[in-house]
Amino acid sequence: MIVDVHTHIGWYPDHWSEEAAQEALASKLVKMKQSGGEVHSAHLDLHSYDSRPEDHWEAAGPADKVVVFGIQAEPTGIVVPNRLVAEYVATHPEKLIGWASVNPTAPDAIDQLTHCVEDLGLEGLKLGPTYQHFDPTDRTYWEFFRKCAGYGIPTIWHQGTTFPSRARLRWALPLQLEDVAMEFPELRMIIAHLGHPWEEDVVALIRKSPNMYADISAVHYRPWRYWQAMVTAMEYGVDHKLLLASDYPSGTITNVINGLRRINDIVEGTRLPTIPEEIQDAIIYENWRRPFPEWE
Ligand SMILES: [Zn+2]
Repeated sequence: MIVDVHTHIGWYPDHWSEEAAQEALASKLVKMKQSGGEVHSAHLDLHSYDSRPEDHWEAAGPADKVVVFGIQAEPTGIVVPNRLVAEYVATHPEKLIGWASVNPTAPDAIDQLTHCVEDLGLEGLKLGPTYQHFDPTDRTYWEFFRKCAGYGIPTIWHQGTTFPSRARLRWALPLQLEDVAMEFPELRMIIAHLGHPWEEDVVALIRKSPNMYADISAVHYRPWRYWQAMVTAMEYGVDHKLLLASDYPSGTITNVINGLRRINDIVEGTRLPTIPEEIQDAIIYENWRRPFPEWE
């Protein structure tokens, strides 16, 4: 079974501040140029970022289960309503799994989480300290995380680089999650995008944290970093904790699988190590079973 643990719905024009929108478009332009297309900024408008239900559903075709969420990140100028997620996943409940996003700095963060879980039926939580402007080591938020742990819901964390100038990278460092992982060992935590460009820290962290995992979304565009990160994960024996994910609309499950299948291309003809097909197969079909036995 193929499971995509990281996709987005939303990003509609009214979900962005003007500044964040302009920076998102600039970043998208760079990515499109890197992938070889003849692209001009005139071809992009704010709708280039939309993840509409019909497009999301089509891209999700090859996956059997798909996690969907938005983000609540007012300090960075990006707010996607949780209700949009709940309404979309209700249209395909056999396949789509909706997760909430709540900013732990909100005075009513715990009430918001309760509403998302108990009223909207959302089953996990997306966090991004860099976008939401919170310090994951600050015990002010322990009560919030205790609530998450109490619900037994999984969490996914954007720890890593990003484009908005209002994001705070000092809270994006993967090692900042160590305290939460040690205080709440039962809390399932996924670090998105292998924590790029701090993949080595992520490998070190998931190695020692029994309930921590990493997803491989949005890393295949940088084949050299990707290959190094995967070799590091393999050499430290944590490749079984890497989960398949697309970060749709940034990628699709199809191009993430293709990217993984081509991971060794960059070292072809050398004596450098390669990622065996069995490890690739496990990431694509099996590794989700350990964190998510309830999806069996
Ligand atoms: Zn994402």
